[in-house]
Amino acid sequence: MHPRHEMLELIVIDGRARGIVTRNMVTGEIESWVADAVVLATGGYGNVFFLSTNAMGCNVTAGWRAHRKGAYFANPCYTQIHPTCIPVHGTTQSKLTLMSESLRNDGRIWVPKNAEDCAKDPRDIPEEARDYYLERIYPSFGNLVPRDIASRQAKNMCDEGRGVGPEVEEVNHRTGETQLRRRGVYLDFAEAIQRLGKKAVEAKYGNLFDMYAQITGENPYETPMRIYPAVHYTMGGVWVDYDLMTTIPGLYCAGEANFSDHGANRLGASALMQGLSDGYFVLPNTINDYLSKGAMPKVEADHPAVVEAVNSVKERINHLISIKGSRTVDSFHKELGNIMWEYCGMERDEEGLKYAIAEIRKLREEFWRDVKVTGVNEDFNQTLERAGRVADFLELGELMCIDALHRRESCGGHFRAESQTEDGEALRHDDEFLYVGAWEFGGDGGQPILHKEPLEYEAIELKQRSYK
Ligand SMILES: Cc1cc2nc3c(=O)[nH]c(=O)nc-3n(C[C@H](O)[C@H](O)[C@H](O)COP(=O)(O)OP(=O)(O)OC[C@H]3O[C@@H](n4cnc5c(N)ncnc54)[C@H](O)[C@@H]3O)c2cc1C
Repeated sequence: MHPRHEMLELIVIDGRARGIVTRNMVTGEIESWVADAVVLATGGYGNVFFLSTNAMGCNVTAGWRAHRKGAYFANPCYTQIHPTCIPVHGTTQSKLTLMSESLRNDGRIWVPKNAEDCAKDPRDIPEEARDYYLERIYPSFGNLVPRDIASRQAKNMCDEGRGVGPEVEEVNHRTGETQLRRRGVYLDFAEAIQRLGKKAVEAKYGNLFDMYAQITGENPYETPMRIYPAVHYTMGGVWVDYDLMTTIPGLYCAGEANFSDHGANRLGASALMQGLSDGYFVLPNTINDYLSKGAMPKVEADHPAVVEAVNSVKERINHLISIKGSRTVDSFHKELGNIMWEYCGMERDEEGLKYAIAEIRKLREEFWRDVKVTGVNEDFNQTLERAGRVADFLELGELMCIDALHRRESCGGHFRAESQTEDGEALRHDDEFLYVGAWEFGGDGGQPILHKEPLEYEAIELKQRSYK
């Protein structure tokens, strides 16, 4: 075990993955590790949005470094937005909290029918003035519609001006104008408490209610919870085949870091189960198969490819420290997150995505000119760690927008405003987009190259979803 080591580069020799380069996060030592095969199990990249339900250390660096060395990155634009999170409460927040999905089993989601009621105490708003919008729009599924649909409808309600909770200042990046919006909807247990009794509700959800009360200072037994969607899970990732091998022979990728099993939607699937099956059942067999094909030539630490990988890591770190600019790493990360959330979040359109790509390019250029990384490499230095990760997020964010721009259909977690049914639901275009979009790195300043892996369904018939 090598805890507190961060992989910062992949070593590729004769087209095969033969090791990694790490930084010791306590001492700053840069080390190379050679191997016959490499497995990345480095999690999802939701933190490209800055605010997400992920742990703050989650990042894309391992997958992105592999991508730059030849591993394709698939379907990067598919992001799962979870509808049941505690709303953003200000501009100094660095993390969002997920309230469990299970709450939607008994909680009823609503907003006031009239915008004038939005600032009122919800207990003073009578039944007839409430809009249980999921039950109204989707009578068959009601509050249990899938995550993407519940999320988008919450956004729609708030966009209409019927959100609840404190007003939050929002800047329209395109016009520069600021506006005040309430970004929250009610998740109400009053009816469940009446039907089941407080004790039963407490037995089922007590820990979640406690967590909510501790964070918000509001008692959800007495007043409805306020929730809003948040970035939760990334369904794109490093492309792998059925053996979990990437396009670099000998490089494997497991769990949320790969794109596999998630499709555009991952609503009925389980991320934890996928990680377990990847690790317990798939990799022990497929890596053995790869290794059994013949002995690998021995690689020493002075092999030119190893030296080159180590030097590239050192140069990058030295470069980051030497810039000594005026803007903090977090300020770049936040700005990137705002762009991603606004233009590559719950709803995307062509104009917004083009704008986002241009803004991300500008921001990346500014980052490499003006970022301020304090401290030195030879120490515990979280600013330096974050700087490297944000540098990679700035490249990934652009690819996500490019992927979202090219996919001119709505599909699960990717909702294109231009591609919707008359009643505002996602409209797929299977005739044009029935494929995995796997992107090859096009070089610094170059265009990523799209490879299409057709999706072939033999046992089931493709159908447009309806929850009405
Ligand atoms: C709040 C929350 C609730 C969830 N609830 C559920 C649920 O109920 N059911 C479900 O199925 N899924 C759930 N998920 C999703 C699921 O937890 C994740 O998809 C899953 O844990 C991912 O597992 P993983 O092993 O692929 O990655 P992770 O668990 O993210 O592990 C990746 C590891 O790699 C390390 N790492 C990253 N980069 C590097 C690097 N460059 N060098 C070295 N190490 C690195 C990280 O520090 C981390 O330890 C939830 C997720 C969240 C955030």
